[in-house]
Amino acid sequence: MLSRGEIADRLSSYPAFEDTMLGLQYAPRMPKAMVKETREVVAIARKFNEEVARPSALVLDRRTHEDPDYLPWELVEEANRRGFYTMWIPKLFGGKGFNLPSMSSFSEEVGSVCLGIMNVIGVHYLGVAGLMTSYNTPLIRRVLSEVVQGEKTGKPCLIALAITEPGAGTDVEEMELLEKGKVTCHARRVKGGYIVNGRKIFISMGHVSTWTALYGYSDLKNPSETTVGMMVKLGMKGFSLGTHENKMGQRVCPASELIFEDCFVPDDQVIADAQSVRKCSKKPLKEINMRYMDYTMSATRAGVGAFGTGAARGAFEKALAFANETELHGKPLINHEWVQCMLAEMYKNVMLGRLAYMEANCANGLRGAYKLLQLKPMYYYQKYMPQAYFDRVVSPLLEKESSTWLMRKMAYDWHDLADDRCASGWASLAKFTGTDFGIRNCQMAIELMGQAGLRQDRGVEKILRDAKLVQIYEGTNQLNRLNLFKCLIAPAHPKAKIFAE
Ligand SMILES: Cc1cc2nc3c(=O)[nH]c(=O)nc-3n(C[C@H](O)[C@H](O)[C@H](O)COP(=O)(O)OP(=O)(O)OC[C@H]3O[C@@H](n4cnc5c(N)ncnc54)[C@H](O)[C@@H]3O)c2cc1C
Repeated sequence: MLSRGEIADRLSSYPAFEDTMLGLQYAPRMPKAMVKETREVVAIARKFNEEVARPSALVLDRRTHEDPDYLPWELVEEANRRGFYTMWIPKLFGGKGFNLPSMSSFSEEVGSVCLGIMNVIGVHYLGVAGLMTSYNTPLIRRVLSEVVQGEKTGKPCLIALAITEPGAGTDVEEMELLEKGKVTCHARRVKGGYIVNGRKIFISMGHVSTWTALYGYSDLKNPSETTVGMMVKLGMKGFSLGTHENKMGQRVCPASELIFEDCFVPDDQVIADAQSVRKCSKKPLKEINMRYMDYTMSATRAGVGAFGTGAARGAFEKALAFANETELHGKPLINHEWVQCMLAEMYKNVMLGRLAYMEANCANGLRGAYKLLQLKPMYYYQKYMPQAYFDRVVSPLLEKESSTWLMRKMAYDWHDLADDRCASGWASLAKFTGTDFGIRNCQMAIELMGQAGLRQDRGVEKILRDAKLVQIYEGTNQLNRLNLFKCLIAPAHPKAKIFAE
């Protein structure tokens, strides 16, 4: 018979009770209006799919094969017209303030039709997340007000995020690996700002975004303690665009090379550096940088899990349509048992991918980056107070240094590390689950459809080409498995060495 203490011990080890059943724990605390709002978002996504994404997915893919330099300006303008680039920006910063988990549902919907088109919309929020989780409120306000203005004037203003370098991809996503990577993007401190030299590659929408959240290092031998986040704007002296990749999938969404040659970034465009975070927290800089990264990635990896689930669903829908319209041995394909088993398996993959990203979003709401925004009073206050109130009364307060100080104190010093781990581990779980299911369902759809599955006009081979990319970005699925081990398994196993050689 176990004692109470032993039972508690068992429950808090593996798999920790607190880290599971997040949806159940979150349900009573969740503002109920979020459900209705999410349905509204799904309806918006479906309308966009019917009017824009479905008719243009294959056309745009073909066009990028004929003209590899093609940039998706018309699509960006259409998304801007529909208000997609401000939908998930809080009203505090002039956006529409839709709840953040609803973006995953939107991503699954649009992703089920075309992942490339979804990334043309979605990667902007990677940039937004990178900026928001720095809690540099004056800079957030300044950049996001340009995004809002861009919607009003019909001149889209998007944000990209640049961390990947030619010699460091996986390594820049994890502080424990950063010293092993060959980072070369140098940010040298000078009077009034930083001078940046270096190159970033595979930056989604780099050619099309007005602003980029850029990460450099003031000491290349000690990058994890000297990371410098900066907002750079197209047209700044010393910042130029190189090529964009001729890649296998998501071709409509460019992956760009960014080049920095003696590019001066003034202090008021510095998102965060050692000096500024030191004013708010005495925690080791490496830990603060990891927490910052975790906040960003916990949100975006759950979203990429939804992208993968979208691909799984797209492949399932193609296979289902084919099974309905095709005959084999004198009876509809859909009436063959082996086909029914395959369709059931594919359906299960979609559902499990969806449950995983929803659970990850519950972790973000309960214990992670969305916690404050999704507290009932905060949520309803944001939802129902008029925009003019935010613009005139609250927003000016964000100019004060004390706003940044308070937000950073809450994020770095007053936030439990176990909560961060839960949100980060679940985001990784959702990411590799959804994206692996994306590939799995494409393989099954092609198997089921035979030669038809290989034909361009059927669209499944495109989903497969698109889906492969989501296993790689937002941290490869290997890295995300290691992050799950680090966050959800290792804490109960002190002997476990993480990211050991
Ligand atoms: C379409 C696309 C869009 C992208 N968009 C952006 C963007 O907007 N912004 C941005 O900054 N980056 C972006 N990236 C870059 C992306 O984040 C990196 O490709 C990714 O982090 C992997 O890095 P890498 O490709 O250099 O692979 P590498 O790091 O070279 O890894 C190669 C292989 O080794 C494995 N590996 C590496 N290190 C370890 C380890 N320690 N333990 C176990 N396995 C390991 C990896 O899992 C992988 O299988 C994009 C990439 C793609 C494909």
